[in-house]
Amino acid sequence: MIIEIQAKTLLSGHKQPDPWFQIKYGMNIYRGCEHQCIYCDSRSLCYGIADFRDVLVKVNAIERLRDELPRKRLVGIVGTGAMSDPYTFAERQYGLTGQALQVLADEGFPVHVTTKSDLVVKDLDTLAQIAQTRAIVSFTLTTVDDELAARVEPLAPSPSRRLAAMAKLASAGVEVGALLMPILPFIEDDPASIRAIVQRAADAGATYALAAMGTTMREGSRDWFYTQLDASFAGLRQRYERTYGLRYECACPRAAELWDAFHEERLRHGIADRLAPYEPHPRRPPTSAAQQLKML
Ligand code: SF4
Repeated sequence: MIIEIQAKTLLSGHKQPDPWFQIKYGMNIYRGCEHQCIYCDSRSLCYGIADFRDVLVKVNAIERLRDELPRKRLVGIVGTGAMSDPYTFAERQYGLTGQALQVLADEGFPVHVTTKSDLVVKDLDTLAQIAQTRAIVSFTLTTVDDELAARVEPLAPSPSRRLAAMAKLASAGVEVGALLMPILPFIEDDPASIRAIVQRAADAGATYALAAMGTTMREGSRDWFYTQLDASFAGLRQRYERTYGLRYECACPRAAELWDAFHEERLRHGIADRLAPYEPHPRRPPTSAAQQLKML
């Protein structure tokens, strides 16, 4: 079900950009996500979302962004995709992520979009415009096996579609890369699979890959994950329970082997394992005639 809400604020701020994603400001236009990944951390009770199948749409998001952005003293990367996919199905109906990107482009802010959807391609022109500052799009790829992905990320577009989208964005000058996170123990923890992800991402123009060889589970997300395991991966819940108990961090038992495969493959393709930093900086004076007129 889609529920329209009014947001009091849209952007959250971090003192420093986070070292993995370089994000200075967080932006979540939707809460809840239709992709229904079995491992979704956003289902954790600590986030207080009553029913994750409901998608809450902040229908005043653009108004909020236009109000909040000019008051930011520092220009830094605005990240979207932490709590819900910014290209979840609701984006087809509302188009708010695309409109927000245009506001960011007009204000000269860089962005980092994380997604599992090829719907992002609809905003290619805007992202290409932002790329003059910096536009990063990270595609989550926990496997490149479309059949396995359909079991772990049932309603998300297939990895093949994500990779095709990655290639299109790369050709338009957008910085693209792969997020190998999570890698599900006993399901996706195969060195050959890790190599295949890195190779296919490299072929699609990825310049970086960020990885976490394992998953996380906590109250709420664990219950959902185990219910889905019972439905689709017989016997695995018991293996998880024996191995991890109530632990939050669940590293793959073969993590060392997986990291070796990851680094060997990424170095073979010249792919970085981190993003180049983006230092927040004070706004620059307007340069275009249109911007100067806005100041009058
Ligand atoms: S795409 Fe992200 S937010 Fe959406 S269900 Fe999957 S893990 Fe959760």
